[in-house]
Amino acid sequence: MSNDIDNVTPKGVLLVVSGPSGAGKGTICQMLRDQLPDLGYSISVTTRAPRTGEVDGESYFFKTIPDVKQMIEKGELLEYAEVYGNYYGTPRKYVEEQLESGRDVLLEIDIQGALQIKKRFPEGVFVFIVPPSLDELSARIYKRGTDSEDVIKRRMASAASELTYAAEYDYIIVNDIAEKAAQKVLTIMEAERYRVART
Ligand code: 5GP
Repeated sequence: MSNDIDNVTPKGVLLVVSGPSGAGKGTICQMLRDQLPDLGYSISVTTRAPRTGEVDGESYFFKTIPDVKQMIEKGELLEYAEVYGNYYGTPRKYVEEQLESGRDVLLEIDIQGALQIKKRFPEGVFVFIVPPSLDELSARIYKRGTDSEDVIKRRMASAASELTYAAEYDYIIVNDIAEKAAQKVLTIMEAERYRVART
């Protein structure tokens, strides 16, 4: 009897993390990356301007609108969405190559993007990070101090409606204490690696 099972490289797990702005998904994703050095991280393209300290090719690939439109036309993005007036998208090649090679990949993207990914990769693991309350969310966005008043208002307005999409995800994690929330996502990843059927 052949022993093919030994020769099969399992595909990597696609972990998709979303949540309202200010829910703390960035902090949690950074903790995951620190704890899982082999975790592939998909760097998105965006048309928004870099914030202080953001480096092109690390935080995002910063692009012009025509550049992103061209990528969309050429089918180079796995998903894309307009978020707060800017385009954001996930480059296809990196994600597909990493998963094929057996590496797990993390996407930190908004809900519109996650829903598109879910159609293409129903076997992905979809995690929704929520703040303990909307008041806490507002406090965090103000404290972060990176956005204008206008953007903060828009972010808060969409946060409430975004929470209604939580049911589309496989797991909902309340981010009260970031370390604890990150640990929960690590546990989920650990379990998902042993799952047999993903659909
Ligand atoms: P920010 O401007 O704060 O970095 O990101 C704004 C929102 O865009 C966040 O919810 C973030 O997760 C989302 N985002 C970042 N990259 C992508 C992407 O490639 N696709 C989609 N759909 N959303 C993204």
